[in-house]
Amino acid sequence: MLEKKSEFTIFPIPVLQDNIVWVWVHNCNAVVVDPSISSPVKKWLLNNNLSLKAILQTHHHEDHIGGTQELIKRWPNTKVIASIKELKRIPFQTFSVDNNDIFHLFDSEVKVIEVHGHTNNHIAFYISKENTKYNILFPGDTLFGGGCGRLLEGTPSQMFESLNKLNSLPENTKIYAAHEYTENNLKWALSLKSNDASIIKRLNIIQNKRKKGLPSLPSTIAEERKTNLFLRAKNITELTMLRRHKDNWKC
Ligand SMILES: [Zn+2]
Repeated sequence: MLEKKSEFTIFPIPVLQDNIVWVWVHNCNAVVVDPSISSPVKKWLLNNNLSLKAILQTHHHEDHIGGTQELIKRWPNTKVIASIKELKRIPFQTFSVDNNDIFHLFDSEVKVIEVHGHTNNHIAFYISKENTKYNILFPGDTLFGGGCGRLLEGTPSQMFESLNKLNSLPENTKIYAAHEYTENNLKWALSLKSNDASIIKRLNIIQNKRKKGLPSLPSTIAEERKTNLFLRAKNITELTMLRRHKDNWKC
């Protein structure tokens, strides 16, 4: 059986070099987040006898939307949920949402949080339901384990604001980011803060997981507050310097 009652049931499908397609399962139905490619996702859903109900798209990059059209050929009633401001770059969306919109999937409430920076009009999905110990965040390429997305379209001040929005979520919120970057990000963080006990401890835990072939995610807002230098940045200047340093850093 795939599902535990009351808690969220979410599985990773690692694809391409380091993307993670998250699948949220409820009864015999699934919601897929940012399907980079279709075939491993389709196979996984069919192997588990699941029917695809919705696809959440955080932003327009090909490694997030590349599999969507093939998946909706197989499950034509799937809702494709994306930003209304991205009708040109995500033209196959069927359910358009805007900042702060709230809608329902399964027995949960989903809130749209606009997080410009990595791209313009990037959105994150924050999911809550009654009687669970924690909530869920799908931040796409805005927040990673120990890091944040590159500023491909937005400004440092937009990213600073976006990270502050995510940082204001409850500390036990679980974070399901779209890339397996945590180990690399924490190594970078240690290159700047070599004595930071929280970062050292987290890197050890993550490296053990990765050696066993397990994903480093989900993390939590509490963990990121302690070990993610971008969330710890006190102002836009600090965030700008960190982003520039990370962009030029080689492991
Ligand atoms: Zn991206």
